[in-house]
Amino acid sequence: MPPIAMKFVVSATKVEDLPETQREVAIVGRSNVGKSSLINAVANTKGLARVSQTPGQTQLLNLFSVGKGSSVMDLPGYGFAKVPGRIKNTWSAMIEAYLLGREGLQMIIVLVDGEIGPTKLDVQMLDWLRSHELPHHVVVTKHDKVKPSTIGTRKRDVAAGVLLHPEDITWVSAAKGTGIDALRDLIRLWLAK
Ligand code: GDP
Repeated sequence: MPPIAMKFVVSATKVEDLPETQREVAIVGRSNVGKSSLINAVANTKGLARVSQTPGQTQLLNLFSVGKGSSVMDLPGYGFAKVPGRIKNTWSAMIEAYLLGREGLQMIIVLVDGEIGPTKLDVQMLDWLRSHELPHHVVVTKHDKVKPSTIGTRKRDVAAGVLLHPEDITWVSAAKGTGIDALRDLIRLWLAK
């Protein structure tokens, strides 16, 4: 599967400020989950999404065009430990407004760190998406950080932790390229008319 060519369009603080799109896939996850690395791997472009943004910096809705009215949304990472509650609330309000209000949104990719497993915040995000019946798919990052001898158990544990079957989850490694083709396939499918 060739990379998905992505072009940065705009960063916004409000869903109202985003240009219209026909079909969009959004990617969300805890900060440090590997979101930027994954976007760069899917697009095969280093430096497209910024890796390891400094906590506390302005968090924005980053929109990428993938052509023909299709786009990918890089949502701000949640759960920076050192950020005051007031800013955390602003972030969740921005993410929620986007997820509930974005027209054309086809799928929300929820990233979970394969090395540490689903966190309380990941589970809260999934509960929230389920309660609003929003289409979502769990992608687990950093496959290469799990020892081959424990990967089977780990896959079952992570699946149980997010209340899904192991076969409904996509494992990836941006570092090694594992699962990137499969994820590209899925994104193309979700963005296809
Ligand atoms: P973000 O904050 O979610 O955008 O996460 P980043 O992409 O900045 O990655 C956070 C940290 O995890 C960085 O140190 C990355 O190098 C590392 N990382 C991301 N993906 C992988 C992966 O697939 N394997 C390994 N071993 N490390 C990764």
